[in-house]
Amino acid sequence: MKIKLLFVPLVFAAVLGAQQPQLAACVRNELPALVNTYHSLHEAPELSHEEAKTSAFVATQLRSLGYTVTDHVGKYDNPAWTGYGVVAVMKNGPGPTLMVRSELDALPVTEATGLEYASRTPGVMHACGHDIHMTVLLGTAQAMATMKSDWHGTLVFIGQPAEETINGAKAMLAGGLYNLIPRPDMVIALHDSATLPAGVLATTAGYAMASATSVEVTLHGLSAHGSAPELGKDPVVAAAQLVLALQTIVSRETSPFDQAVVTVGSIQAGVKNNVIPDSAKLLLTVRTYKEEVRQRILTSIERMARGIALADGLPADQPPQVRVYESTPSTYNDPALTARLTRDFVAALGASHVETGGPIMASEDFGSFGLENHQIPICMFSLGAVDPVRIVASQKSGVPLPSLHSSRFQPLPSPTIAAGVTAMSSAILDLLGPRAQ
Ligand SMILES: [Zn+2]
Ligand SMILES: [Zn+2]
Repeated sequence: MKIKLLFVPLVFAAVLGAQQPQLAACVRNELPALVNTYHSLHEAPELSHEEAKTSAFVATQLRSLGYTVTDHVGKYDNPAWTGYGVVAVMKNGPGPTLMVRSELDALPVTEATGLEYASRTPGVMHACGHDIHMTVLLGTAQAMATMKSDWHGTLVFIGQPAEETINGAKAMLAGGLYNLIPRPDMVIALHDSATLPAGVLATTAGYAMASATSVEVTLHGLSAHGSAPELGKDPVVAAAQLVLALQTIVSRETSPFDQAVVTVGSIQAGVKNNVIPDSAKLLLTVRTYKEEVRQRILTSIERMARGIALADGLPADQPPQVRVYESTPSTYNDPALTARLTRDFVAALGASHVETGGPIMASEDFGSFGLENHQIPICMFSLGAVDPVRIVASQKSGVPLPSLHSSRFQPLPSPTIAAGVTAMSSAILDLLGPRAQ
């Protein structure tokens, strides 16, 4: 408890000492209402593709702050899904266009935090902290509306649905996001961290998160009695060989200087012990930073599947099928933009509250907003959300902290939201400030 009492005033001291006294006042005034907003968002999570109430709430809030809001932005190849993207624009004279993004969706997780404001929707939880992101976005939108005389340009806030299924960003872009608004000069976002203390930020320049590609491989065999393998062609054995062969893609075909992961997460074949099945299906995830490495790995998967089918004599008229069924690009934080944000955060929150992060092989669809070949500079930074008391307890006990997506993930709202709004607002005031072209 001691640490908590010491730590929280430290965060507020940093917030109050922000370069912009008006911003510090905004954050202080808004904070109680923002914590209430966070509680109500946390209580009412909605799954990816089902964010009807969440998107309506975010749209209404942004409209009431004076933004021009378009909702239901984004289309998707499933006709049942109408798209719940929210786009809010404030034009404020000449200057760059800056887009700030929050996700809207929650996860199919049953909350086990025991919090008073725990999810009231059975089996659904904001276990990735997107409710923190939305709250910070709304707090920042309010501060920027209040401080309109301190920035110029076009400020865009978006609420993106379906991040957890890595297709919401694509859907908004396919739905004409960059026609609806001027194409942004920069895009920024934050993600809460389940390891950093509440109120501490971390920035990572360059590749920060990997691309993710989901691959389905189907090997076709010839069904037979389990006691007479010579009468069939066994796809189970071929699948086993393929799993082992795939391990050499990273270890033998990829430069040690290029990060890559190939994981077979699922093998599905057969229904009975004494029947050789007709086919076997493998589901893979491929993670890379560079697009050329990703392409090479996909080519290798196909080559190995065909090679093993040939070696095992699987039916030549039914070659293996290799299908990419979902993908998202890597998140490449523009180094210059990241350096600039880092300076802004240090100025706003103090150097002791800003760390250098590190890249991870997890994935996000935020990178899509930078378009192919990093055409638009983007940056996503980390916002610490963990109660420092819990960090100390975890270090003492050796029991890991609940990760993102855990049913026990529990951000500490006040200092997290205060630091998030301060950081995001400071970034905007700089990027759209007097230095902006
Ligand atoms: Zn997540
Ligand atoms: Zn997330």
